[in-house]
Amino acid sequence: MDRIYLDNNATTRPAPEVVEAMLPILREDYGNPSSIHSLGQHAQHAIEEARHRVATLIGADAREIVFTSGGTEADNLAILGTLAARSAKRHVVTTAVEHSAVLSLCERLAKQGLRVTIIGVDRLGRLDLDAFAAALDDDTAIASVMYANNESGVIFPIERVAAIAAEKGVPLHVDAVQAASKLPIDVRPVPIQLMSLSAHKLHGPKGVGALYVRRGTRLRGQQVGGHQERDIRPGTENVPGIIGFGAAAELALRELPAMQSRVAALRDRLETGLLERFPFSHVLGDRSVRLPNTTFVGFEALEAEAVLIAMSEAGLCASSGSACSSGSLEPSHVVRAMGVEDRIAHGAIRLSLSRYSTREEIDETLQRMPAIISRLRALAPNP
Ligand code: PLP
Repeated sequence: MDRIYLDNNATTRPAPEVVEAMLPILREDYGNPSSIHSLGQHAQHAIEEARHRVATLIGADAREIVFTSGGTEADNLAILGTLAARSAKRHVVTTAVEHSAVLSLCERLAKQGLRVTIIGVDRLGRLDLDAFAAALDDDTAIASVMYANNESGVIFPIERVAAIAAEKGVPLHVDAVQAASKLPIDVRPVPIQLMSLSAHKLHGPKGVGALYVRRGTRLRGQQVGGHQERDIRPGTENVPGIIGFGAAAELALRELPAMQSRVAALRDRLETGLLERFPFSHVLGDRSVRLPNTTFVGFEALEAEAVLIAMSEAGLCASSGSACSSGSLEPSHVVRAMGVEDRIAHGAIRLSLSRYSTREEIDETLQRMPAIISRLRALAPNP
């Protein structure tokens, strides 16, 4: 056993079935879905099938799915498209632990003169619902709240968030990029207007995602071009990507019940094993409401980057928070928002499993970790 992949919140291995589904589109069925001829119509039909599969994963209708280039574009389209459609309103509400696709956009909007309210979380990464309710007012164009956090794995009470937003008449966008495929999602009974998804987080290909747009939601497309995706997202479709996304969504739905309990048991085995071996380690985030695949562990007096490099040398792939913020030595904005003490924050490592993770891999990880951690602890200035 060489490499052990524990970085599934960054991206996932494409399922073999997904690759199989994509190959014919790349090799033979390469038509443009806008073309009248049979090759084009075949592609168009395949896209509609994929749309149906992606919709089914979240309980939506196929007509409510707009394909995008990924989660980032879906997040941007949701917020910018809503602001454009409700231009009289100049206030956005979001949370301090959103992915940078939402948070950096909101920071830019604030610089452009919009009012932006950022709701905090507590030490366990739980959302302040009272502050959220208090922030929504008559001028609020949109609220954007993630379903589950990519670093801590903490799940927000999205039904309550949606009820509060609905009561105040504010459209709600939910970034479900990490939640989809790890939690059952049904948008039908919940007043969510917009939801972002990304294929590569659920064993699909990279560079393709979707925005769920509930029927009747006002949204203006942010690109100008042809009439694809009902004018909301013009541009020739990423047909292989979309087909792969559809196959991945169908598989994810089928595997979900078994995956949840099996992966949570493996995650708990890994987490308990780490806590037992390293008394100076701490789980960050609310352990009772987390994604089944994620553990976020802070090692006192260690630098996460050093741990990750040493882990990588030992064949263990993990992350310190979101992949997008790696490369910087500062603790991530999520760890900061949770108010984790510096001593632990600097050593926060995220280990994220998938349905392909095995017990052997977890046990092997627990075998390899002590040598890594004790070597780094010996070097630490003040362990
Ligand atoms: N939202 C969340 C919560 C994520 O974890 C990510 C990816 O890390 C994204 C959005 C961005 O998705 P994509 O990589 O498809 O642009």
